[in-house]
Amino acid sequence: MKRFFLLVFIPLVFLSSKGNGQPSCGMEIRQQQALLRNPALAEDRRQLEQLTKAWIAKQALEKTRENVVRLPVVVHVVWRTQEQNISDEQIRSQIAILNRDFRKMNPDAGTTPTPFAALVADVGIEFCLAAKDPAGMATTGITRTKTTVTDIGDKDRWFSTLRGGKDPWNTKKYINIWVCEAGDDLFGFAFLPGTADPPEADGLVISSQYFGSTGTALASRPNHKGRTTTHEMGHYFNLDHLWGPDDSTCDEGDNVADTPPQYEATYECPGFPLRDRCTPGGSGILFFNYMDYTDDECMYMFTLGQKQRMLAALNGPRSNLLGQSNCSLSTSVSSQAEAQAPQIFPNPASGWIRVLTQEGESRPVKLELYDYHGRKLQEKVSHGECNFDVSGCAPGVYWIRLAENGRVYRCILAP
Ligand code: ZN
Ligand code: CA
Repeated sequence: MKRFFLLVFIPLVFLSSKGNGQPSCGMEIRQQQALLRNPALAEDRRQLEQLTKAWIAKQALEKTRENVVRLPVVVHVVWRTQEQNISDEQIRSQIAILNRDFRKMNPDAGTTPTPFAALVADVGIEFCLAAKDPAGMATTGITRTKTTVTDIGDKDRWFSTLRGGKDPWNTKKYINIWVCEAGDDLFGFAFLPGTADPPEADGLVISSQYFGSTGTALASRPNHKGRTTTHEMGHYFNLDHLWGPDDSTCDEGDNVADTPPQYEATYECPGFPLRDRCTPGGSGILFFNYMDYTDDECMYMFTLGQKQRMLAALNGPRSNLLGQSNCSLSTSVSSQAEAQAPQIFPNPASGWIRVLTQEGESRPVKLELYDYHGRKLQEKVSHGECNFDVSGCAPGVYWIRLAENGRVYRCILAP
């Protein structure tokens, strides 16, 4: 038994001390702790991996049409110092970042180096602050709790009101995000599906200064763009780090086919291409992926393979999040500045459909072009205006859909 502990704990010490004292993600540490407490978890994880692979294979065959889903989030601010009691505005800035990053609407997605550009995924998951609490009452989707516990994320107490934290809302129906002191110089951590121990701990834990992109996050450069939460949300939907459960080997990867093998975490903001001993040639490793440790400004994409894996989790162990009515448009974050109806002209059109979005350059808006039968033909991100080339399309009725609120606008192609 002693030997077992040594074997497991040596990498842990290494993990928490690497990165030149830079704070990092605690998912692996949490995972190892859960495995120590409950060795049967390893078998659960193997079974989930089989289900994940089976789901992805089935998807590839069926090519089912994808619907964008919107999932309810509750943010529990558990604060010890006044500064940690972050504003509603800072919380909403984080939800907006999640929505942009998961819908490929982040303006920096376009900076993906060309060899990987075709891999960038619109994951098709959106988030909202919950509009109803577990009792069905109207809510802002934000709770606030004062605590006296230092580094509460370190002490397995953040998820318990009795122990100085805040009890979760039903962890199957809400994505619980605790914004508190994550502890041990961590940005935050999250649980892979089925690994939270106890189950009430399931969700994300994020240090308040890394949450969102305004307020106290402004002083957190280079981790001031809310990508810590994007990264942890990836874990919540069963994504591993790019280097897999073991760093410093090329043996085990992240179980995602389109992410190149990677030896260890990448820090700061290296130039492209970056090659390592697992991927010594070609375009190198995917250090600008959300599941690496690079600076917030230097990570900007999930891959199509990671998307499939996340959707497998959403349709598997996380499926109770679907179909919840506690996520209403009227209180969702994007309704704060919900996209206005676009101007479409000429209408009827021929050759080109030109769309003006009223938000202008300040806020990118994703537009999708559908044919009469509901088949998506094209999608664009508008920074004020964009054009759809419809020169190859048959005359008839088409639809322009505003991705963020699902509203559709008719347009006609003239013969
Ligand atoms: Zn991580
Ligand atoms: Ca891989």
